Amino acid sequence: MTYIGRFAPSPTGHLHMGNFWAALVAWVRAKQEGGVCLYRLEDLDKARSRPEYIESMRGDLAWLGLDFDEPKDHALPDIKQSERDAQYKNAISQLAKHTHVFKCECTRKDIKSAGGAPHLGEGLFYPGTCRERRTELWIDGTVLRWCIEDRVIEFEDRHFGPQKVNPYHLGGDTVLCRKDGIFAYHLAVVVDDATQKISEVVRGRDLLGPTAVQIALYNALALEKPKWAHCPIVVDENNQRLEKRSGAQTLDAYRQRGVHAMMIHKNLANSLAISSATTAAITSITGWLEFWVKTLTPSVLGRPAIQLQSEILGDENE
Ligand SMILES: [Zn+2]
Repeated sequence: MTYIGRFAPSPTGHLHMGNFWAALVAWVRAKQEGGVCLYRLEDLDKARSRPEYIESMRGDLAWLGLDFDEPKDHALPDIKQSERDAQYKNAISQLAKHTHVFKCECTRKDIKSAGGAPHLGEGLFYPGTCRERRTELWIDGTVLRWCIEDRVIEFEDRHFGPQKVNPYHLGGDTVLCRKDGIFAYHLAVVVDDATQKISEVVRGRDLLGPTAVQIALYNALALEKPKWAHCPIVVDENNQRLEKRSGAQTLDAYRQRGVHAMMIHKNLANSLAISSATTAAITSITGWLEFWVKTLTPSVLGRPAIQLQSEILGDENE
Protein backbone atom coordinates (compact mmCIF):
# COMPACT_ATOMS: atom_id res chain seq x y z
CA MET A 1 0.00 0.00 0.00
CA THR A 2 1.21 3.53 -0.80
CA TYR A 3 1.94 5.74 2.14
CA ILE A 4 -0.71 8.47 2.54
CA GLY A 5 -0.24 10.92 5.38
CA ARG A 6 -1.86 14.22 6.22
CA PHE A 7 -1.45 17.45 8.12
CA ALA A 8 -4.82 18.76 9.30
CA PRO A 9 -4.77 22.12 11.08
CA SER A 10 -7.78 24.08 12.32
CA PRO A 11 -8.13 27.62 10.94
CA THR A 12 -8.99 29.09 14.34
CA GLY A 13 -5.78 31.06 14.77
CA HIS A 14 -2.35 31.57 13.24
CA LEU A 15 0.03 28.62 13.32
CA HIS A 16 2.73 28.51 16.01
CA MET A 17 5.94 26.48 16.44
CA GLY A 18 4.00 23.47 17.74
CA ASN A 19 1.92 23.40 14.56
CA PHE A 20 5.06 23.77 12.43
CA TRP A 21 6.62 20.83 14.25
CA ALA A 22 3.53 18.65 13.65
CA ALA A 23 3.43 19.70 9.98
CA LEU A 24 7.15 19.00 9.58
CA VAL A 25 6.97 15.51 11.07
CA ALA A 26 3.94 14.62 8.93
CA TRP A 27 5.71 15.92 5.81
CA VAL A 28 8.97 14.14 6.69
CA ARG A 29 7.25 10.80 7.33
CA ALA A 30 5.74 10.90 3.83
CA LYS A 31 9.16 11.66 2.31
CA GLN A 32 10.81 8.85 4.30
CA GLU A 33 8.22 6.40 2.95
CA GLY A 34 8.16 7.76 -0.60
CA GLY A 35 4.48 8.61 -0.18
CA VAL A 36 2.24 11.64 -0.17
CA CYS A 37 1.19 14.08 2.53
CA LEU A 38 -2.19 15.75 2.15
CA TYR A 39 -3.29 19.03 3.67
CA ARG A 40 -6.76 19.06 5.22
CA LEU A 41 -8.71 21.86 6.85
CA GLU A 42 -10.26 20.86 10.16
CA ASP A 43 -12.87 23.59 10.27
CA LEU A 44 -15.53 21.71 12.23
CA ASP A 45 -16.03 24.72 14.44
CA LYS A 46 -17.49 26.99 11.78
CA ALA A 47 -17.99 29.90 14.15
CA ARG A 48 -14.32 30.01 15.17
CA SER A 49 -12.81 29.31 11.73
CA ARG A 50 -11.65 32.39 9.82
CA PRO A 51 -10.74 32.85 6.13
CA GLU A 52 -7.68 34.95 7.02
CA TYR A 53 -6.21 32.04 8.98
CA ILE A 54 -6.87 29.63 6.11
CA GLU A 55 -4.83 31.96 3.91
CA SER A 56 -1.97 32.60 6.36
CA MET A 57 -1.50 28.92 7.34
CA ARG A 58 -0.62 27.74 3.83
CA GLY A 59 1.62 30.79 3.37
CA ASP A 60 3.50 30.10 6.61
CA LEU A 61 4.11 26.47 5.70
CA ALA A 62 5.26 27.35 2.17
CA TRP A 63 7.62 29.95 3.67
CA LEU A 64 9.19 27.14 5.73
CA GLY A 65 9.52 24.93 2.65
CA LEU A 66 6.62 22.55 3.30
CA ASP A 67 4.55 21.83 0.23
CA PHE A 68 1.68 19.38 0.43
CA ASP A 69 0.17 17.03 -2.12
CA GLU A 70 -3.14 17.76 -3.78
CA PRO A 71 -5.65 14.94 -3.18
CA LYS A 72 -6.91 15.14 -6.78
CA ASP A 73 -3.42 14.34 -8.11
CA HIS A 74 -3.65 11.01 -6.30
CA ALA A 75 -7.29 10.19 -7.06
CA LEU A 76 -8.26 11.00 -3.47
CA PRO A 77 -11.15 13.18 -2.34
CA ASP A 78 -10.40 16.70 -1.16
CA ILE A 79 -11.91 17.33 2.26
CA LYS A 80 -13.12 20.40 4.05
CA GLN A 81 -14.87 19.41 7.25
CA SER A 82 -17.35 22.30 7.17
CA GLU A 83 -18.84 20.77 4.01
CA ARG A 84 -19.23 17.23 5.33
CA ASP A 85 -22.25 17.31 7.64
CA ALA A 86 -23.96 14.65 5.53
CA GLN A 87 -21.06 12.20 5.95
CA TYR A 88 -20.87 12.71 9.71
CA LYS A 89 -24.65 12.38 10.12
CA ASN A 90 -24.51 9.20 8.11
CA ALA A 91 -21.81 7.78 10.41
CA ILE A 92 -23.87 8.68 13.50
CA SER A 93 -26.94 7.04 11.95
CA GLN A 94 -24.92 3.88 11.38
CA LEU A 95 -23.76 3.88 14.99
CA ALA A 96 -27.32 4.57 16.18
CA LYS A 97 -28.65 1.68 14.16
CA HIS A 98 -26.06 -0.93 15.11
CA THR A 99 -24.89 0.18 18.57
CA HIS A 100 -26.25 2.36 21.38
CA VAL A 101 -26.55 6.11 20.73
CA PHE A 102 -28.64 8.31 23.00
CA LYS A 103 -29.87 11.86 23.50
CA CYS A 104 -28.16 13.55 26.41
CA GLU A 105 -29.86 16.45 28.11
CA CYS A 106 -27.40 16.92 30.95
CA THR A 107 -25.80 20.27 31.53
CA ARG A 108 -22.15 20.55 32.48
CA LYS A 109 -23.34 21.20 36.03
CA ASP A 110 -25.42 17.99 36.04
CA ILE A 111 -22.39 15.95 34.98
CA LYS A 112 -20.19 17.65 37.53
CA SER A 113 -22.63 17.12 40.40
CA ALA A 114 -23.04 13.46 39.45
CA GLY A 115 -19.53 13.11 40.83
CA GLY A 116 -18.10 10.80 38.24
CA ALA A 117 -15.64 8.02 38.83
CA PRO A 118 -11.92 8.81 38.86
CA HIS A 119 -10.82 8.60 35.25
CA LEU A 120 -7.96 9.21 32.86
CA GLY A 121 -9.40 11.99 30.70
CA GLU A 122 -8.94 15.71 31.10
CA GLY A 123 -12.64 16.63 31.01
CA LEU A 124 -15.53 15.46 33.15
CA PHE A 125 -16.54 11.81 33.38
CA TYR A 126 -20.05 11.23 32.06
CA PRO A 127 -21.85 8.70 34.29
CA GLY A 128 -24.39 7.42 31.75
CA THR A 129 -27.37 9.39 33.11
CA CYS A 130 -29.38 9.58 29.86
CA ARG A 131 -28.67 6.13 28.42
CA GLU A 132 -32.37 5.29 28.43
CA ARG A 133 -33.05 8.01 25.84
CA ARG A 134 -31.80 5.76 23.09
CA THR A 135 -32.31 6.77 19.49
CA GLU A 136 -31.90 4.75 16.32
CA LEU A 137 -31.87 7.84 14.13
CA TRP A 138 -29.85 10.99 13.70
CA ILE A 139 -31.49 13.85 15.64
CA ASP A 140 -30.73 17.51 15.15
CA GLY A 141 -30.33 20.09 17.91
CA THR A 142 -29.42 17.74 20.72
CA VAL A 143 -26.30 16.27 22.26
CA LEU A 144 -25.82 12.72 21.01
CA ARG A 145 -23.64 10.35 22.98
CA TRP A 146 -22.36 6.90 22.18
CA CYS A 147 -22.00 4.01 24.65
CA ILE A 148 -18.40 3.26 23.94
CA GLU A 149 -17.40 -0.22 25.08
CA ASP A 150 -15.84 -0.46 28.53
CA ARG A 151 -12.92 -2.55 27.33
CA VAL A 152 -9.16 -2.18 26.94
CA ILE A 153 -8.01 -1.49 23.39
CA GLU A 154 -4.48 -2.41 22.40
CA PHE A 155 -2.60 -0.68 19.61
CA GLU A 156 0.91 0.05 18.48
CA ASP A 157 2.36 3.51 18.08
CA ARG A 158 5.42 3.95 15.87
CA HIS A 159 7.19 6.20 18.37
CA PHE A 160 5.69 5.24 21.74
CA GLY A 161 5.33 1.48 21.27
CA PRO A 162 2.50 -0.80 22.47
CA GLN A 163 -0.46 0.97 24.13
CA LYS A 164 -3.33 -0.35 26.25
CA VAL A 165 -6.14 2.11 26.86
CA ASN A 166 -9.76 1.68 27.92
CA PRO A 167 -11.49 4.49 26.00
CA TYR A 168 -14.48 4.42 28.36
CA HIS A 169 -12.22 5.51 31.19
CA LEU A 170 -11.28 8.68 29.31
CA GLY A 171 -14.65 10.34 29.89
CA GLY A 172 -17.48 7.81 29.77
CA ASP A 173 -19.97 7.75 26.91
CA THR A 174 -18.47 9.63 23.97
CA VAL A 175 -20.07 12.80 22.61
CA LEU A 176 -20.73 12.45 18.86
CA CYS A 177 -22.42 15.76 18.24
CA ARG A 178 -22.93 18.90 20.28
CA LYS A 179 -26.21 20.69 20.78
CA ASP A 180 -25.11 23.51 18.46
CA GLY A 181 -24.61 21.00 15.67
CA ILE A 182 -20.81 20.78 15.86
CA PHE A 183 -19.66 17.21 15.29
CA ALA A 184 -17.14 15.68 17.66
CA TYR A 185 -13.51 15.78 16.59
CA HIS A 186 -13.02 12.03 17.07
CA LEU A 187 -15.95 11.18 14.85
CA ALA A 188 -15.00 13.58 12.06
CA VAL A 189 -11.34 12.63 12.04
CA VAL A 190 -12.11 8.91 11.79
CA VAL A 191 -14.58 9.42 8.93
CA ASP A 192 -12.18 11.77 7.13
CA ASP A 193 -9.04 9.67 7.55
CA ALA A 194 -10.92 6.63 6.24
CA THR A 195 -12.33 8.60 3.29
CA GLN A 196 -8.86 9.78 2.24
CA LYS A 197 -7.35 6.31 2.82
CA ILE A 198 -4.79 7.77 5.24
CA SER A 199 -2.27 5.02 6.00
CA GLU A 200 -0.44 6.70 8.89
CA VAL A 201 -1.68 9.40 11.23
CA VAL A 202 1.06 11.70 12.54
CA ARG A 203 0.02 14.09 15.32
CA GLY A 204 0.87 15.31 18.82
CA ARG A 205 1.31 12.93 21.72
CA ASP A 206 -1.62 14.55 23.55
CA LEU A 207 -3.85 12.44 21.29
CA LEU A 208 -2.07 9.14 21.99
CA GLY A 209 -4.58 7.97 24.67
CA PRO A 210 -7.71 9.24 22.87
CA THR A 211 -6.61 7.18 19.84
CA ALA A 212 -8.44 4.35 21.64
CA VAL A 213 -11.73 6.25 21.22
CA GLN A 214 -11.03 6.51 17.51
CA ILE A 215 -10.17 2.81 17.24
CA ALA A 216 -13.50 1.96 18.88
CA LEU A 217 -15.20 4.13 16.23
CA TYR A 218 -13.24 2.49 13.38
CA ASN A 219 -14.33 -0.90 14.69
CA ALA A 220 -17.99 0.06 15.10
CA LEU A 221 -18.13 1.67 11.65
CA ALA A 222 -16.20 -1.22 10.03
CA LEU A 223 -13.62 1.18 8.57
CA GLU A 224 -10.01 0.32 7.78
CA LYS A 225 -7.63 1.65 10.42
CA PRO A 226 -4.43 3.59 9.70
CA LYS A 227 -1.20 3.25 11.67
CA TRP A 228 -0.32 5.85 14.29
CA ALA A 229 2.85 7.84 14.83
CA HIS A 230 2.43 10.31 17.65
CA CYS A 231 5.18 12.85 18.16
CA PRO A 232 6.43 14.98 21.05
CA ILE A 233 4.41 18.05 21.91
CA VAL A 234 6.12 21.43 21.92
CA VAL A 235 6.23 23.27 25.24
CA ASP A 236 7.47 26.72 26.20
CA GLU A 237 10.10 27.63 28.79
CA ASN A 238 7.51 27.09 31.56
CA ASN A 239 6.68 23.61 30.25
CA GLN A 240 3.30 24.83 29.05
CA ARG A 241 1.97 23.47 25.81
CA LEU A 242 1.86 26.07 23.04
CA GLU A 243 -1.72 26.91 22.30
CA LYS A 244 -3.31 29.34 19.92
CA ARG A 245 -5.25 30.95 22.73
CA SER A 246 -2.21 31.28 24.99
CA GLY A 247 -0.86 33.92 22.60
CA ALA A 248 2.19 31.87 21.62
CA GLN A 249 4.31 33.68 19.05
CA THR A 250 2.93 32.81 15.67
CA LEU A 251 4.77 31.89 12.48
CA ASP A 252 2.92 34.73 10.83
CA ALA A 253 4.35 37.18 13.38
CA TYR A 254 7.91 35.92 12.80
CA ARG A 255 7.40 36.24 9.07
CA GLN A 256 6.05 39.80 9.41
CA ARG A 257 9.03 40.72 11.57
CA GLY A 258 11.43 39.62 8.86
CA VAL A 259 12.79 36.55 10.66
CA HIS A 260 14.50 34.29 8.14
CA ALA A 261 12.73 30.95 7.67
CA MET A 262 16.04 29.17 8.27
CA MET A 263 16.06 30.61 11.81
CA ILE A 264 12.82 28.79 12.51
CA HIS A 265 14.35 25.47 11.42
CA LYS A 266 17.47 26.25 13.43
CA ASN A 267 15.42 27.04 16.52
CA LEU A 268 13.73 23.67 16.24
CA ALA A 269 17.11 21.91 15.87
CA ASN A 270 18.40 23.75 18.96
CA SER A 271 15.26 22.80 20.88
CA LEU A 272 15.92 19.17 19.97
CA ALA A 273 19.45 19.59 21.37
CA ILE A 274 21.02 18.91 17.99
CA SER A 275 24.51 20.41 18.09
CA SER A 276 25.17 23.50 15.98
CA ALA A 277 28.16 21.73 14.43
CA THR A 278 25.77 19.22 12.86
CA THR A 279 23.69 21.91 11.16
CA ALA A 280 26.40 24.51 10.48
CA ALA A 281 26.80 23.47 6.85
CA ILE A 282 23.11 23.89 6.02
CA THR A 283 22.63 26.98 3.86
CA SER A 284 19.14 26.59 2.40
CA ILE A 285 15.60 25.56 3.28
CA THR A 286 16.01 22.54 0.98
CA GLY A 287 19.11 21.65 2.98
CA TRP A 288 17.10 21.84 6.20
CA LEU A 289 14.36 19.61 4.80
CA GLU A 290 16.91 17.01 3.67
CA PHE A 291 18.44 17.17 7.13
CA TRP A 292 15.07 16.54 8.82
CA VAL A 293 14.28 13.57 6.58
CA LYS A 294 17.55 11.94 7.74
CA THR A 295 17.31 13.06 11.36
CA LEU A 296 13.69 12.52 12.43
CA THR A 297 13.93 8.85 13.37
CA PRO A 298 11.82 7.04 16.01
CA SER A 299 14.55 7.61 18.62
CA VAL A 300 14.26 11.38 18.14
CA LEU A 301 10.47 11.30 17.93
CA GLY A 302 9.87 9.02 20.92
CA ARG A 303 10.48 11.71 23.55
CA PRO A 304 7.46 13.14 25.40
CA ALA A 305 8.03 16.85 24.71
CA ILE A 306 10.32 19.40 23.12
CA GLN A 307 11.06 22.52 25.07
CA LEU A 308 11.31 25.46 22.75
CA GLN A 309 14.48 27.56 23.00
CA SER A 310 12.66 30.84 22.62
CA GLU A 311 15.64 33.19 22.98
CA ILE A 312 17.02 32.07 19.59
CA LEU A 313 14.04 33.54 17.81
CA GLY A 314 14.88 36.96 19.16
CA ASP A 315 17.97 37.04 16.94
CA GLU A 316 15.95 37.57 13.81
CA ASN A 317 18.61 39.54 11.99
CA GLU A 318 21.44 37.08 12.32
ZN1 LIG B 1 -27.08 13.06 29.88
